[in-house]
Amino acid sequence: MMTLPLVFRGDARPFVVIGGGVVASRKVQTLVKAGADVKVIAKSADAAVAHLEQQGKIRLEVREANASETFEQGSLVVIATNDSELNEALAVSARQQGCLVCRTDRKEDSDFAFPAVVDRSPVLVAISSSGTSPALTRHLKQRIEAFLPQEYRQLGELVEALRERVKTRLALPLRAPFWRKLMASQVPELVLARQPERANAVAKSLLSGQSDTHGEVYLVGAGPGDPDLLTFRALRLIQSADVVFYDRLVGPGVMALISPDAERIYVGKAKSDHAVPQDDINQHLVDAAKQGKRVLRLKGGDPFIFGRGGEEIERLAQYGVPFQVVPGITAASGCAAYSGIPLTHRDHAQSVRFVTGHLRNNTCNLPWDELVHPNQTLVIYMGLSGIVEICHQLIANGMDEQSPIALVEKGTLPDQKVHISTLADMPELISSTEIQAPTLTIIGSVVTLHSKLAWR
Ligand code: SAH
Repeated sequence: MMTLPLVFRGDARPFVVIGGGVVASRKVQTLVKAGADVKVIAKSADAAVAHLEQQGKIRLEVREANASETFEQGSLVVIATNDSELNEALAVSARQQGCLVCRTDRKEDSDFAFPAVVDRSPVLVAISSSGTSPALTRHLKQRIEAFLPQEYRQLGELVEALRERVKTRLALPLRAPFWRKLMASQVPELVLARQPERANAVAKSLLSGQSDTHGEVYLVGAGPGDPDLLTFRALRLIQSADVVFYDRLVGPGVMALISPDAERIYVGKAKSDHAVPQDDINQHLVDAAKQGKRVLRLKGGDPFIFGRGGEEIERLAQYGVPFQVVPGITAASGCAAYSGIPLTHRDHAQSVRFVTGHLRNNTCNLPWDELVHPNQTLVIYMGLSGIVEICHQLIANGMDEQSPIALVEKGTLPDQKVHISTLADMPELISSTEIQAPTLTIIGSVVTLHSKLAWR
């Protein structure tokens, strides 16, 4: 069956809905929402339909429909009784009177159908599987519902509010290019980030012919590696950036989502090999935004956890560059989940502590006595090269040398590995096994749960 999706003006033609069940009731509600003139013929009406009649929004005839109903010229007739013979006869009769028919019991005998709708009025997304699979349509609707933020409604309203002004200001040939420029600017993202005043200001300056010099920086957490762990907002910003400054820890799956038109600048550092000094990174972000670019600063994990994200936005704030911060799943959460090691557990740990094991002058200065604590899980970021020293210090400060310890290598990535040992045996494991960065260390009795809870 070939079908054509059209957008129909709600009040273009009268609608008649025949039937009193749930299906009919839903159609009536959809039609009323679209401002349609609706007559309902039903043996009995459910509460929703009765309420619409009381509000004067529909006309309701409580009676049995008969096969030879007379329909107003040009009506659209929705036939939804539970009597298929009656439906058949009504369809024939309606068509003889020049009406279009939608039969809810037989799609193949329908002239029109109602698509599933994702409603961000005035923006509507209609989904149809041409009658082949309501389940597929529902599945798609759920995905689009989740992906399209409610704020698209406000974007639609902003555009609607601007329409008249554009008509008076711009000659016809300039209008379409203006709308394209508006959509490619940061206006949509400002609306989605609930900053309507700034969105309006940028839209108006674009309309008055100024170029888009309102750059912005998005400091976005890319999570531990698996791109499925990105937030919706992170994904949107990744796809809309003009220039991307990224680090070593951003996984290839996430990098693949960046627009092919965006400029990519690597500013990552490997241990002791500082590709770009932090101060220069901070300044690059300011400079790119000042050129009016949408600048994505993409960081592994969460930007505010051992990510120096704070320093970068301090510089932005100092220069008056607008920015947004999008949290990401930090390595501790990602590695814990994907290795089946809950960071807290009523029988094992009531607190969790995140520390950095980064070495300075070959030692790490950590408050060892505070780390040796019963019922506490210790998560050590950047601890791989100092792991032997860390194990020695913890034992020296009173931690049981049989305490379980896990190294989660390349957590959440397809080649993730989990190495389990004890504080006493870890130096031996390290010397006999090749372990690659990034690796996260988890210490505490929760590690024993891995043997039961590992699911990947
Ligand atoms: N901001 C990041 C942490 C940056 S520090 C976050 O929130 O996750 C870098 C350290 O994070 C690495 O040395 C390693 O210990 C840890 N790490 C990051 N990604 C990891 C991964 N996929 N698997 C294991 N550890 C990871």
